Amino acid sequence: MDNNKLRDEILELLWSMREKGSKSFTEVVSGINDSGASDALRKMEKSGLVTISDDDVELTDKGDARSRDLIRRHRLAERLFHDVLEVGMQESEETACEIEHFLSPSVTDSVCAFLGHPPTCPHGKPIPRGECCSKYRNEVKPLVMQLKELDVGSKGRIIFIVPSENSRLERLASMGIVPGSIIKLKQKRPSFVLEIDETTLAIDSVIAEEIYVKEQR
Ligand SMILES: [Zn+2]
Ligand SMILES: [Zn+2]
Repeated sequence: MDNNKLRDEILELLWSMREKGSKSFTEVVSGINDSGASDALRKMEKSGLVTISDDDVELTDKGDARSRDLIRRHRLAERLFHDVLEVGMQESEETACEIEHFLSPSVTDSVCAFLGHPPTCPHGKPIPRGECCSKYRNEVKPLVMQLKELDVGSKGRIIFIVPSENSRLERLASMGIVPGSIIKLKQKRPSFVLEIDETTLAIDSVIAEEIYVKEQR
């Protein structure tokens, strides 16, 4: 692996490990498939990306910012390839690993807006928020949006679902609410009513925020 790629892989691994509450030097070295990992970590300490003491590696502010960007690009790319382009999970993951190194910040924010600012990747891991996520209006017309943003009377195809409780997915699936299904939004108030396969269903507004659709014309 070239040095910059190796450094970035380590930064991403450190971020994912921290999500699980780990910061072990040994774990980083065994998690990176490259004999230069240990040396690379020492170099990263010199360039101010990490601090190392005993078996602990921690991201500095500088390292944290760079990891955050990489993780954000990686997880957004996974959403794009897996959910929108419907590339298999393995291939999405590989493509995400390549693309994360060259997406510029503004392109990243466009991808995020295009996908309706998804809060998680397809594996359910959080996507670090970007500036675009808090702006009220976006210049980019989204391809994917929350069901609650769809106009009444419009049809949408479900692209992905981000449930706040995992048990919800099963319940939604039993109603036919799964990625790929076409739904028609019949009403938004007082509750969300939609039609799916000629069946009319009412759902909570919270759930309408968790279903991401692409408008069908
Ligand atoms: Zn993921
Ligand atoms: Zn965003």
